[in-house]
Amino acid sequence: MARLVMKFGGTSVADLDRIRAVARRVKREVLAGHEVAVVVSAMAGVTNQLVKWCQELSPLHDAREYDTVVATGEQVTTGLTAIALQAEGVDARSWQGWQIPIRTDDAHGKARIEAIEAGELRRRMKLGQVPVVAGFQGIGPDQRITTLGRGGSDLSAVALAAALEADRCDIFTDVDGVYTTDPRIVPRARKLERISYEEMLELASVGAKVLQTRSVELAMKRRVRVQVLSSFEDVPGTLVVDEDEIVEKELVSGVAYSRDEAKLTLRRVPDRPGIAASVFGPLAAANINVDMIVQNVSADGLTDLTFTVGRADLARARAVLDSNRERIGFEDLVVDPGVAKVSVVGIGMRSHAGVANTMFKTLAERGINIEVISTSEIKISVLIREEATELAVRALHSAYGLDRAP
Ligand code: ASP
Ligand code: MG
Repeated sequence: MARLVMKFGGTSVADLDRIRAVARRVKREVLAGHEVAVVVSAMAGVTNQLVKWCQELSPLHDAREYDTVVATGEQVTTGLTAIALQAEGVDARSWQGWQIPIRTDDAHGKARIEAIEAGELRRRMKLGQVPVVAGFQGIGPDQRITTLGRGGSDLSAVALAAALEADRCDIFTDVDGVYTTDPRIVPRARKLERISYEEMLELASVGAKVLQTRSVELAMKRRVRVQVLSSFEDVPGTLVVDEDEIVEKELVSGVAYSRDEAKLTLRRVPDRPGIAASVFGPLAAANINVDMIVQNVSADGLTDLTFTVGRADLARARAVLDSNRERIGFEDLVVDPGVAKVSVVGIGMRSHAGVANTMFKTLAERGINIEVISTSEIKISVLIREEATELAVRALHSAYGLDRAP
């Protein structure tokens, strides 16, 4: 008998038929004798619509009211899923973030979970009740509803699994696992049976959209075994596990891409101590994540500083920089939303040379220009023109021998 968290994403609860299918899937585990907690997202497309309404009313809206609006999608699906479970004869009830409570900090729109008081849920689960928990939301120190950032219900599920000391956290989604790359771009992409937390983290952070980055971070930290699997097909998914559980460590396990990037260049910034802090400090204070950074060689004590942010943060990044223009002392701000980031990831890279060279050579042969490069121990990322994304991904997937045999 195991304790399981089963999380269903937006496409898995997109309509009533699918919610009925979710209820039957959950019932199977309950009948097998497992203790089950369910986490649900909003119906596919609903959160996007809610976000759009906020933006249409005011682009710089109050983040607390945004949370009040966008958290409603999950309230609907918790209730519907609980009703569907009850109709299947399974004892179930819905839980909103504030009812548990799932306590977060006050960073509205991208709040961090600080604590989950799971005692009551555990007590009821022991008695056979299935809690259906709203993903994506919590309650802040000011008692207001918070949300965890887009895709945040994965994080809710992993955090709940950790709080419940669950044996596994199953993430049911519209793909049946983690692939070597996006199968829509490369039909010969392969499904991975297992992947390490480290690799999954790098893949998630560079745009493999199956799991939200922060959920993988938390799974790694709390050693939560995560399985990604399809809610439509009954086939084994991909297990995200500790590196030691992976016998054959691939040189490159996956190629990922992200089109949600924007490049900013500050032209002719004074090259003096403290300048980076004066640029990135205010951006951090505004909760804007900066990713790749390059500073050019300076001439006449002036330099160019190039970096990337998520495209969704571009307008705010620009506003923050403009309002700090005097303090930073730059001459010009050039903004370029037409870029994409392509990355190769693999724990085998730690012990092998030449991985980067293969990447650069492959892109050069296709005439793809590299604008910015960044690396970590197990990842190499390049920034290229957005139009070249698919070509780059396909070429790299073959170059690293990842194509499935035809
Ligand atoms: N409904 C939220 C979103 O669309 C959270 C989630 O689906 O994970 O971002
Ligand atoms: Mg999702």
